[in-house]
Amino acid sequence: MKHRKSFPVELISSSKLSNIDFNNLKFGRDFSDHMLLAEYANGEWESVKIIPFQDINFSPAASVFHYGQAIFEGLKAHKTKDGEVLLFRPEENWKRMNLSAQRMCMAEIPSEIFLDGILQLIDLDRNWVPEGEGKSLYVRPFLIADDAFLGVKASERYKFMVITSPASNYYSGAVSVKVETKFSRAAAGGVGAAKAAGNYAASLFPAQKAQKAGYDQLIWTDSKEHKYLEESGTMNLMFVRGNSIVTPSLDSSTILPGITRKSILHLAKEWAYQVEERQIEVAELIDGLKDGSIEEVFGVGTAATIAPIANIGYEDTDYKLSDFTNWKFASKAKNYFEDLKRGEIEDQFNWTVKV
Ligand SMILES: *Cc1c(COP(=O)(O)O)cnc(C)c1O
Repeated sequence: MKHRKSFPVELISSSKLSNIDFNNLKFGRDFSDHMLLAEYANGEWESVKIIPFQDINFSPAASVFHYGQAIFEGLKAHKTKDGEVLLFRPEENWKRMNLSAQRMCMAEIPSEIFLDGILQLIDLDRNWVPEGEGKSLYVRPFLIADDAFLGVKASERYKFMVITSPASNYYSGAVSVKVETKFSRAAAGGVGAAKAAGNYAASLFPAQKAQKAGYDQLIWTDSKEHKYLEESGTMNLMFVRGNSIVTPSLDSSTILPGITRKSILHLAKEWAYQVEERQIEVAELIDGLKDGSIEEVFGVGTAATIAPIANIGYEDTDYKLSDFTNWKFASKAKNYFEDLKRGEIEDQFNWTVKV
């Protein structure tokens, strides 16, 4: 194993662990004892340390508040039966974070800080990784600009932080989604392929309207014609037709290149499915639902791995899908990832990293 860098640690005086009800976890509410904080100034990462989870001071002029240079990542640590802690493809998160940083004109993060920092942090708080099916420690790395300067330009100072939060399954059951034909998540030439905080801010209003209309979330379409499928909420979108796994291609650069997406497509090929990454008209999906040739439609992302869709609303009509438990591909893939992430099956593609 490669030598890991280790950073200075300031330990908490008393753990909050005993206050947490691990049988009643709400996503993103409780935070582990420690966090990682790295500070960039004068063209370099000047300090990296692990400190007790705490509030952070910012100048009211910090550029993140005004011009929105903020990006993030999300990954999970799982506990195996033997008490080992595994991460799923963390170097993919590191690479993507730096692609996001490039697009948003922010300082990139060296792999020692991102990867070794996260491993050291999780090792220190390993008692916070919950045991049991569907449970994990959610890891949230994020990068924000903190130049105290109101001129519009790329910040010269950044803070990179990692916080972690014990979680049970983010979604429960199949979701009802509406195909959005007015608002857009991302436009060609924009920042849709970056995990930028602002993309989430922009999605809240249309998502809230969909929720008021009785849907859980949206299927986003292209911003120009609302004719082509893009993503499902904050997940990538896939469906199964015959022996093909079909998903929008990343060519438009309006789609977030999901690590779950990439892994599922890899697995699908391994399982002798055809993989079709291409432009997909909304009409193709609707026609397939009408004539029954499309039986499985689902979102894919770290939060739920696979979130089955039970209902799709499009132009005032609801199209229902069959019960997820009868789907051939999606339920098999979901079980595969659950088992792999918890070390219950052989890691044939070397996707897990032991903390
Ligand atoms: C994070 C994210 C995804 C899923 O990416 P994973 O790496 O699979 O978690 C998909 N779409 C959007 C918009 C996202 O922000």
